Amino acid sequence: MPDKIFVKDRYFSPFITEEEIQSRISELAAQIRTDFAGITPVFLGVLNGAFMFAADLMKYLEIECEITFVKLASYQGMSSTGAVKTALGLEANIEGRHVIVIEDIIDTGVTMKHFLKTLEAFKPASVAIMTLLWKKEAMKHELPIDYVGFEIPNKFVVGYGLDYDQIGRNWKDIYHLAED
Ligand code: 5GP
Ligand code: MG
Repeated sequence: MPDKIFVKDRYFSPFITEEEIQSRISELAAQIRTDFAGITPVFLGVLNGAFMFAADLMKYLEIECEITFVKLASYQGMSSTGAVKTALGLEANIEGRHVIVIEDIIDTGVTMKHFLKTLEAFKPASVAIMTLLWKKEAMKHELPIDYVGFEIPNKFVVGYGLDYDQIGRNWKDIYHLAED
């Protein structure tokens, strides 16, 4: 892991290593295997940020399951715009199914709260929320988050799917904004 990376116009320093991420994901997968054995859940990955997390999680699961993706976003630059876009691509039939939403990060919770409302209309049997990162202090909405990879401070992070103005998603570790 490099001791700093340059993304667009800022330096970022190491925060969570690839090894830590992978080891936590295998623990989350073990929990899912127990909680959803024999249920054939439908995973709903939230694009673009959760693509790496969703892919890695799948590899550790070893249960019968489906995965599909939706696209929604509320961020521009480094702070939430608060504007939530509608869910695109939710074509899977999730009526009566047990759904697990896979997010990269929950910050204010606005995005997830809005998305949960959208999902309700499709009448799933249950909805669980899984997020790799949770900025607990930044959360402004009560949300039932079932599976959390890491609770992190309210600091901007990139890498492992997370972007800074679309750049930086490709790093295998997670970095945070370097102190000036
Ligand atoms: P929320 O609606 O919970 O405030 O924000 C959720 C979305 O904002 C996430 O899915 C993610 O796309 C983006 N986001 C929130 N915090 C960060 C961060 O620290 N880094 C990056 N790259 N995106 C973030
Ligand atoms: Mg996201």
